[in-house]
Amino acid sequence: MTQPSALTPAVSETGDPLLLTPGPLTTSRTVKAAMMHDWGSRDARFISINHAVLAQLAEIVHGEGAYVTVPVQGSGSFAVEAMLTSFVPRAGKVLLLINGAYGLRAKRMLDIAGRETVVYASAEDTPPDLAQVEALLRQTPSITHVFAVHCETTSGILNPVAEIGALAAKYKKSFLLDAMSAFGAVPLNAPALQADAVTASSNKCLEGVPGLSFVVCRREALAATQGNATTLVLDLLDQWRNFESTGQYRFTPPTHVIAALHQALDEFAAEGGVEGRGGRYRNNCRILIEGMTALGFEPLLKDGLQAPIIVTFRMPKHPRFDFQHFYDGLKTRGFVIYPGKLTVAESFRIGCIGRIHETEMRGLIAAVHDVLKEMEITGVADAVRS
Ligand SMILES: *Cc1c(COP(=O)(O)O)cnc(C)c1O
Repeated sequence: MTQPSALTPAVSETGDPLLLTPGPLTTSRTVKAAMMHDWGSRDARFISINHAVLAQLAEIVHGEGAYVTVPVQGSGSFAVEAMLTSFVPRAGKVLLLINGAYGLRAKRMLDIAGRETVVYASAEDTPPDLAQVEALLRQTPSITHVFAVHCETTSGILNPVAEIGALAAKYKKSFLLDAMSAFGAVPLNAPALQADAVTASSNKCLEGVPGLSFVVCRREALAATQGNATTLVLDLLDQWRNFESTGQYRFTPPTHVIAALHQALDEFAAEGGVEGRGGRYRNNCRILIEGMTALGFEPLLKDGLQAPIIVTFRMPKHPRFDFQHFYDGLKTRGFVIYPGKLTVAESFRIGCIGRIHETEMRGLIAAVHDVLKEMEITGVADAVRS
């Protein structure tokens, strides 16, 4: 593939613009093609596909044996809400480690469910201070659960989940993790973290299509959630029991989405699993940061904090830099980026995940250069930052 110019926009294998966003993402042609069938929910082939998918999802976080995957129909937030409302009992109290929109969303879910919370918030570009987390755990024995976000997609920051998990275990708290945007790309070992539940979805680093979310649950912890649920549809234990007894979903499964995820997991394994997928994303991320930095853009996060998932760039202060023009110019060239939603700085985001390789990333940098020229921002570095 040659580098795209304004006349030949970059496209996915099916001719669509490339989605450099937090999701949904660009998927392969073969993943989309896997949806060209109509299965009944009781079809033996569908049941076996679903069974294989659930087993593979648990294996990605080394959960085989002690953990089970409970799927939840819907986007990732459905599984987060299912996890929080199924695992936290009425008398529970959750320590929430918040440094972005997804942590805040978890807080809203618990508020609505009437569950007590203790919030430890840090700035969007700052991981939690572990000494302060430990102090909170020591001082507040009534805390029953700790909730953290692995990669906070709001900024792209990687939170120190191994250390947080170790603290939760030390103080005998149940650890619940939103690993949505890192699952499959950043190594995660649920038993080593002593996590009771880890949640993610079909359409981020697994490169499936949106519509299925899931919670990898420690079997014993899940069994102990009887009576906690606040809704019928998000009751993980009830959902799980139905699988145990019938192999089927309680309510209409997104059959096409699950078939696509099955294909996506085959492609994930063929790429070398977490190592291969994570390696491609790290390379994408490196090309993105190097290329953008050379053009004068400034990433929000320091190197050691950046997950290879999505990169936040500070909004340039150059008088001729117009974000709408920038966004539209990239869209015309086949690249869809994402506005920022930070409170610490004006920003925009560019994703490294989905069916995107080195060629497309280099094409993006060429397109950024092109759009800057269109805005008559000719120089690099200082011209943009000034
Ligand atoms: C994407 C994401 C979610 C779920 O968002 P949906 O829009 O409901 O899919 C939750 N947490 C994190 C960290 C995410 O990146």
